[in-house]
Amino acid sequence: MPGALAEILYLVAAVCFIIGLKRLSSPGTAVHGNRLSAVGMLMAMVVTLVDRGIVTYSVIAAGLVVGSALGLWMARAVKMTAMPQMVALLNGFGGGASLLVGGAEFLKSELIGQNLGLDTSITIQLSLLIGAVTLTGSIVAFAKLQELLPGRPITFPGLQVLNATIFLAIVALSIYQVATPESLLWPFYAVCALALLLGVLLVIPIGGADMPVVISLLNSYSGIAAAMTGFVIRNDVLIISGALVGSSGIILSQIMCRAMNRSLTNVLFGAFGGGGGAAVTSGKSAEGLTVRQVSAEDAAVQLGYARSVIVVPGYGLAVAQAQHLVRELADQIEKRGGEVKYAIHPVAGRMPGHMNVLLAEANVPYEKLFDMDAVNGEFDRADVALVIGANDVVNPAARTDSGSPIYGMPILNADHARSVIVLKRGMGSGFAGIENELFYNPRTAMLFGDAKASLGKLVTELKALA
Ligand code: NAP
Repeated sequence: MPGALAEILYLVAAVCFIIGLKRLSSPGTAVHGNRLSAVGMLMAMVVTLVDRGIVTYSVIAAGLVVGSALGLWMARAVKMTAMPQMVALLNGFGGGASLLVGGAEFLKSELIGQNLGLDTSITIQLSLLIGAVTLTGSIVAFAKLQELLPGRPITFPGLQVLNATIFLAIVALSIYQVATPESLLWPFYAVCALALLLGVLLVIPIGGADMPVVISLLNSYSGIAAAMTGFVIRNDVLIISGALVGSSGIILSQIMCRAMNRSLTNVLFGAFGGGGGAAVTSGKSAEGLTVRQVSAEDAAVQLGYARSVIVVPGYGLAVAQAQHLVRELADQIEKRGGEVKYAIHPVAGRMPGHMNVLLAEANVPYEKLFDMDAVNGEFDRADVALVIGANDVVNPAARTDSGSPIYGMPILNADHARSVIVLKRGMGSGFAGIENELFYNPRTAMLFGDAKASLGKLVTELKALA
C-alpha cells in the first residue's frame, strides 16, 4: 500500500475515533458513536497490518475472525454488573501490548546492533514502565472485583516508602539504560520486573469499591502507554488514539472523584472503602432514633395515589437486578395518572453510568432519566421519592455533618420530597460505611427486603388496586 494512502486512512480512522468519542457523550447518539469508533479501529488495524506487510493476509483474516468472535462472546456473556472487571482486564491487555511492543523494539535493536536514538530510547522506557504497571495493576483490579483477591485494602507498614523506592529505582535504571551507548539487557529486564511488581503494589492497598476510579485511571495509563508505543514504532494513529484514551481516562477519574468529594490522592493512597457491612465510621450515631417501617400494601397505596414520583436508583438495584420490575412499577403508576422520573447521581452504583445502563437494559426511556442538577429542584414538588438500593447518594450528612467522610459531596435531595419510601434489605451501610439520617426522618418509610422481592410485591399490589 502506498505510504500516502496509509497516512490518509490513518487520518480518517483518527477522525472516526474523535467523532465517535463525541457521540458517546449522549445516550441517544452513543450506539452510533460506538460503531463509528469500531469502524475506525478496524480501518486502523487493517491498514497497519497490510501496510507493514508483517504477516500474511490469511493470518490477518484469522486474527480478525478469532478476535471478533471473542469480543462478541464477551459482549453477550459478561453480565452488566461484571463490566468493571471486564474493562479492567481489557486495560491490562492494552498495557501488556505496549510492554510487548516496546520490549520487542528494544530487543530488535539489540539484535541488529541498531542505535535507537535518544527520543525512541526514552519512549521505549516509558512504554515498558507504564505498560507493565497497567498490566499487573489491572490484573489485581480484576482479581479484587471478581473476588479472587480480598476486596478490602491490603496494606502493610512501609508500603508507600517501598513503592517510592521501586519507582526511583526504575527511573535510575531507565536513565542509565538510555545514557549508556551500548544497549544492556540487565537494566531492561530489571525495569520490566520492577514495573510489574509496582503495578501490584500500587493497586493492592486500594479498597475494592474504589476500583472503578482506579480502573478509569489504569485505562488512562493504557492509553498513555499506547501513545508512547506509537512514538516508538512511528505510528500516528496509535499516538492519537492513545492520547484520546489517556486524556478521557484522566477526565473520567477526576469526574468520579469530584462527585465523591474525594481527591485522586485520597482514592489512591487513602485505603478507603471496604464496602458494605454495618455503619461504623459516621460522625453521627443513630442511637435513640427509630425507623418507621411500611408494608408493601401501604407503600403501594401511597404510590398508586401519588401524582409525582421520583425514583432514586442505587447500587442495591443493580445487586438485586430489579431494573425490569422498576420499569413495570413505573408503568403501573403512570397508568393510574402519576408521573415518574428517575434521578441519576453521577456516582450511584459502582461505575460511571451504572444506573443509566441498568435502566436502559429495561428500556426505561432516556428522557425520563434526569441528572442530579436537573432534578434536584423537583424533589420539593414530588409526592414520593422512591429510593431503591441507594444510600450514600441521598445521605443528608453530606450537607450537614462536617465530620462525615462524605461531607461536601453533592447529593440528591430525596429528603425534600413530601414523603420518602426506601427499599433496602436492612440497615446496612453503603459504600462509605456511614449512618444515613434520611432513614430516621419522620417522613421516611422503610420497606425492608431484597429490592427485587419488594418491587415484585409493589407491582402486584398496584395491579390489584381498584
Ligand atoms: P451505596 O451507598 O453503596 O448503598 C447501596 C445500598 O444498597 C446499601 O446500603 C444496601 O443496604 C442496599 N442493597 C444492597 N443490596 C441490596 C438488595 N439486593 N436489595 C435492596 N437493597 C440492597 O449505593 P449508592 O447510593 O448507589 O452510592 C454509591 C456509592 O459508591 C457512593 O458512595 C459512591 O461514592 C461510591 N462509588 C461509586 C462509583 C461510581 O462510579 N458509581 C465509583 C466508586 C465509588 P442493605 O445492605 O441494608 O440492603
